[in-house]
Amino acid sequence: MVMPTTFSQWSELPGRHIVSLSGGKDSTALAIYLRDHIPQLEYVFCDTHKELKETYEYLDRLEAYLQRPIIRLNPDRGFDHWLTMYNGMLPSGQVRWCTRKLKIEPFEAYVGNDKVWSYIGIRGDENRSGYISTKSNIQALYPFKDHGLGLRDVERILAESGLGMPTYYEWRQRSGCYFCFFQRTGEWVGLKDRHPDLYEESKKYETENGGERFTWRQRESLVELEQPERLAQVRADHIKRLEEERRRRPGITLYELNKVVFDEEDDDPGCNICALH
Ligand code: SF4
Repeated sequence: MVMPTTFSQWSELPGRHIVSLSGGKDSTALAIYLRDHIPQLEYVFCDTHKELKETYEYLDRLEAYLQRPIIRLNPDRGFDHWLTMYNGMLPSGQVRWCTRKLKIEPFEAYVGNDKVWSYIGIRGDENRSGYISTKSNIQALYPFKDHGLGLRDVERILAESGLGMPTYYEWRQRSGCYFCFFQRTGEWVGLKDRHPDLYEESKKYETENGGERFTWRQRESLVELEQPERLAQVRADHIKRLEEERRRRPGITLYELNKVVFDEEDDDPGCNICALH
């Protein structure tokens, strides 16, 4: 099948048209990019109930800009409900029940058996795959890839709309739960600095029962990470890397700078389902 690649072709496709919002820059820019071309678009956000307040505020501002409702899925069953169902076992990179229960299944239930065109915010300058449903009635479309739009275009779309980039990019690379186990060391320290209350909340999820230990990070618990000597070491390393990168790439934006430095710290690519959903 030759896939459609223009606004007019997309808008004429029979079926429902959906943008899944993550609260991040790419899906937000995509919603803005498509708004005036695909009038039948539905905007959906799978709420884990554990996002940063910046994310909820950003979505509210986007909703005002779009002048269309953003449908929030999971109104009753957020992360804590599913944690109880999984007997307190924290999700991890190996057992990632959270994306299935909080992102994939609610989205597929919302869609049902309808024919759906799902617009994905992967950019033309990226080489990654997003969540592609295995359901045959859901077909993915990639407008930014099809139109060759990259990071600079996303930044421009957001700036022109007045929304700008989400503010958490100053210290964090991805949208998603404040305690996401995909966070890098520097991002956890960023959480502690920017949202000490949420760092404390994250700590409460970590448990040690006999030989069983559930922590967000494999290598150390959040209590271990917040020890003064460890924090000082992380901060000093982070600042050193930021300065080196700034010298190496004059003119680099704060988002790109943080991305390079966090990627150096830890090359785990993170969760493309949450980042794109
Ligand atoms: S953001 Fe992280 S913790 Fe939250 S649902 Fe996604 S992968 Fe799980």
